Amino acid sequence: MEIQENVSLKKYNSFGLDVKAKYFVELTNNDDVKELLKLDDLHYAKRLIIGGGSNILFTKDYDGLIAKISTKGNKVLEENDKDVLVESCAGEKWNDFVTYCVEKELYGVENLSLIPGTVGAAPVQNIGAYGAELKDVFESLQGININTGEEKTYLKNECKFDYRDSIFKGELKDKFLITKVILRLSKEKKFNLNYRAFQSYLKPGEQKNITLKQVSELVKKIRRDKLPNPKKYGNAGSFFKNPEVDKDKIDELHERFEDIVHFKVTEEKYKIAAGWLIEKCGFRGKNIGNVGTYKRQALIVINFGEATGNEIKNFTEQIQNAVHKKFGVNLIPEVNII
Ligand SMILES: Cc1cc2nc3c(=O)[nH]c(=O)nc-3n(C[C@H](O)[C@H](O)[C@H](O)COP(=O)(O)OP(=O)(O)OC[C@H]3O[C@@H](n4cnc5c(N)ncnc54)[C@H](O)[C@@H]3O)c2cc1C
Repeated sequence: MEIQENVSLKKYNSFGLDVKAKYFVELTNNDDVKELLKLDDLHYAKRLIIGGGSNILFTKDYDGLIAKISTKGNKVLEENDKDVLVESCAGEKWNDFVTYCVEKELYGVENLSLIPGTVGAAPVQNIGAYGAELKDVFESLQGININTGEEKTYLKNECKFDYRDSIFKGELKDKFLITKVILRLSKEKKFNLNYRAFQSYLKPGEQKNITLKQVSELVKKIRRDKLPNPKKYGNAGSFFKNPEVDKDKIDELHERFEDIVHFKVTEEKYKIAAGWLIEKCGFRGKNIGNVGTYKRQALIVINFGEATGNEIKNFTEQIQNAVHKKFGVNLIPEVNII
């Protein structure tokens, strides 16, 4: 384990921002993690844990220690006729983990294929796509409290999972380092292909005999068609969450905007497609300097060149103001702004 100084984070964040970390360390095994936490004498005031940096917007140099988690390994912990408990180290690439499951014919994470980032970050915002969320297969996780050094296991009901949210994005933010994630995958063939995008990609009848590998490949194809590749266009996926509103608010908006794209969550709670709101404010495909939104999906904010984190932040604040002015709805960033 080597602690480096003044390290460029350009290759460690999917916006491709060339900011620096005062101190930087890559942790490749769990002993490194424990050793790092013993280095109290360094008195790092600030510490940030990162995986793939695909959900972070750095607005300035980081005046503290960045610990990149690169621990690797997947293993089966136990299995029965129906399902299998798999443990994965936090630094595994999420998509490599999905591939591991698909190769072992384990069902449950195929809709989450190709989401960038690491296994350790997946519970932080309860990653989700195409009608599936991490919490659907989540069993528990292990990690270390970075203030006390205490090792702890969190069971599903303790993680406060919600839409793109968990205890690790809330009260334990920057306080708990996730080292291992344990998921329960199914041996039984069952798919969740209700999401709209699947219908337009699958021919009638194709759904019936589809295999696990085919579903995973289909998800990858849809994602490659719809989302910009961060290697070409720096981005962090959806910049904002889809806002939730109550029934009165959705009724009011529906009267004013007949085509508003929204989903019912409960009788009293509705979600509005943030991309639709942004598009209706004229921001789809709009650029200001080096920053803009993706022409096929207004929810994705792109660094088109040498944008700074602050330029990106200012641009996203313009979007928030425009949406609030037109619809009276607050957009909350999904991305972690540092
Ligand atoms: C093109 C693109 C598409 C995307 N599509 C989706 C999508 O469909 N669905 C979705 O949910 N997300 C999506 N995202 C967002 C991103 O992929 C996920 O949030 C992912 O889980 C982030 O993983 P990461 O390792 O890059 O985390 P990072 O960006 O490195 O970190 C994210 C947060 O987690 C914390 N963290 C990271 N690792 C640990 C750890 N081991 N212990 C404790 N805290 C940790 C960090 O401190 C930070 O607060 C997309 C991003 C991109 C660029």
